[in-house]
Amino acid sequence: MIRSTKTTPVAVLFGFLAFSALLGWTEYSNWRAEVGRAEMSLEQTAEAIAQHADDVIETSRLPLASLISEITDEEGHPHMAQKIASLITRQMKASPTLDTLSFIDAEGRMIATSAPRPPAGALYTDREYFQFHKAKPFPLPVLGKPIKSRLSGDWVWPISQKVLREDGSFGGVVVSTIRVKHFINFFRNFPVGNDGSFLIARGDGMVLARGPMAESLLGTNIAAHELFSRYLKAGTAGAYHYRSPVDRQLRIGGFYQSDRTGIVVLAAASKRQILVAWMEEARIRWIYASVLMAVSVLAASHWRQQLKRREESEAQLAAREAEFRLLAESSSDVISRFDENGIREYVSPSSAAILGIEPDRLIGKSVYAGMTEEAEATVREAAARLQIGSTHEKFLIKHVKPSGEEVWLETALSKLPEQNKASATRVVAITRDVTTHKVMHDQLDQLASTDDLTKLANRRSFNVRFEEMMKRARRSRTPLSLLMIDADRFKLLNDIYGHAVGDECLTQIAAVVRSCVKRPGDIAARYGGEEMAVLLTDADVGGAWTVAERIRVQVSALELPHTANLPFGHVTVSVGAATLPPEAPGDITAQALFTQADAALYRAKEAGRNQVVSANRTWYQIAKSAT
Ligand code: GH3
Ligand code: MG
Ligand code: MG
Repeated sequence: MIRSTKTTPVAVLFGFLAFSALLGWTEYSNWRAEVGRAEMSLEQTAEAIAQHADDVIETSRLPLASLISEITDEEGHPHMAQKIASLITRQMKASPTLDTLSFIDAEGRMIATSAPRPPAGALYTDREYFQFHKAKPFPLPVLGKPIKSRLSGDWVWPISQKVLREDGSFGGVVVSTIRVKHFINFFRNFPVGNDGSFLIARGDGMVLARGPMAESLLGTNIAAHELFSRYLKAGTAGAYHYRSPVDRQLRIGGFYQSDRTGIVVLAAASKRQILVAWMEEARIRWIYASVLMAVSVLAASHWRQQLKRREESEAQLAAREAEFRLLAESSSDVISRFDENGIREYVSPSSAAILGIEPDRLIGKSVYAGMTEEAEATVREAAARLQIGSTHEKFLIKHVKPSGEEVWLETALSKLPEQNKASATRVVAITRDVTTHKVMHDQLDQLASTDDLTKLANRRSFNVRFEEMMKRARRSRTPLSLLMIDADRFKLLNDIYGHAVGDECLTQIAAVVRSCVKRPGDIAARYGGEEMAVLLTDADVGGAWTVAERIRVQVSALELPHTANLPFGHVTVSVGAATLPPEAPGDITAQALFTQADAALYRAKEAGRNQVVSANRTWYQIAKSAT
């Protein structure tokens, strides 16, 4: 059984939703994994930058100590400035990441520097690191707040260390600088997209660098920011999502805090850009999925339409079948339907009454089963005509009921219109019992063709048969003989004995004639008055003579009294015979044969009555007269 169309939309919708959910879930997991990969990569980027910053800070710090010892050694020496300058030059050569290396004396004057064009007479007393070292006894190098270099005009990190004279007084400050731009250039090597950014901060939250460059941020403190207040408290490396305070963009940030210098690096990428890149990659997948989904929906809707159409046509068929059965079952005729092989598909209940057989015992059986040979031939002829294009056929057959009763059945066959080209031709048969009708018809036929008095065929039916037999004789090239029989002096018989006796005589003569004419194709008729005619099929001159003689002799032998029929004294007949031989020309008509027989009869009367005369001159006549 096919599923109903009502459940189909629900099933399709369910399938569609399930597929969408699966797809959505897969894509979401995919996105999560992508984000995970981005977080990992940003964290690694942060770590790489931190390590590089550590190295750079380290190499910028080292030269300070040797510079300090040179300064304290050469304190007060006249060539001090040159000596320091040449040390600075050496140091600069040894450390390529160094930006500048300078010595500022206790009064804030630039004594020596690696910078190519130091501003003449500038005082550095305003610099934070100068004030710090002047005020504090802290002896180690300090990474200070980023400043805009007076020497190069670039943003730099100052790494400064206090110069302590041997007497313990403040001897100035040595400063090396690292350019912020160096990190920005370094950061460009990382594949974080063009929306990517990074930030380097000191362990206490002071911003050292930001790429892309954001001057306003440099030197500010972000210790209150969730990176410090929250994430760094949980671990020295990780990733988190945030909205950038600079451009209000959603970002994914990977962070790392160096255990060597304590500096913190945050590398971030725009979440939107990661999404766009991921979507770019996922697009092909989505297109495939959408096409697949569209095809599935189309297929489902097509399938549903097919199903609906089939259901409709099935319902229509069922309705038609029910209608057909209703009509068939209410009919007193037997209504049956056959397939193209004559197998009964349906038989209405009237079959029990009309055929004497229940429908169940007929369904599935051939229409020819149990038929007489003659009936089968009739039905096969009708079926053949239907097959070559006829749409309606009617025939009459004799049927023997299981009870032995014989009935006449009239059947009308109709070809059913084909439902489609592929379907086979089917036939509906309506069968009714016409026995009563047939019997009445036969009786009427009999009446119409029989003579009342003699019960022989009448002249009209004789004439019809005569023409037919002439044709058949010619076709089969067999002889056909006609006998004309006339009672002798019958007028006198009537006159003497009365008409009733005459009629009785005629009846007896007819009985003799009938008894002598026995072959199935032969016919004996009352031709008119007291004249009878006999047609003998396949009878030549000799055969005709023999039959004629037999009739004549037997009538005479009845010895029906007829005193006026002299010299015999009883009823006699004269017979004129004519034979159409097989070799006769084709244009001889029934009328011509009749004329010959009639002439022969006339001659028999002339010759004395109670005799047979053949129109054909043969040795029979001669032989007869010889005996
Ligand atoms: P023929 O020997 O020459 O034949 O003499 P016929 O008297 O028989 O002459 P014809 O054949 O010409 O006469 C026919 C007569 O047969 C006329 C009529 O009296 C008689 N007849 C004809 N039909 C009937 C009939 O149905 N019943 C009776 N009783 N007589 C008939
Ligand atoms: Mg007559
Ligand atoms: Mg007569």
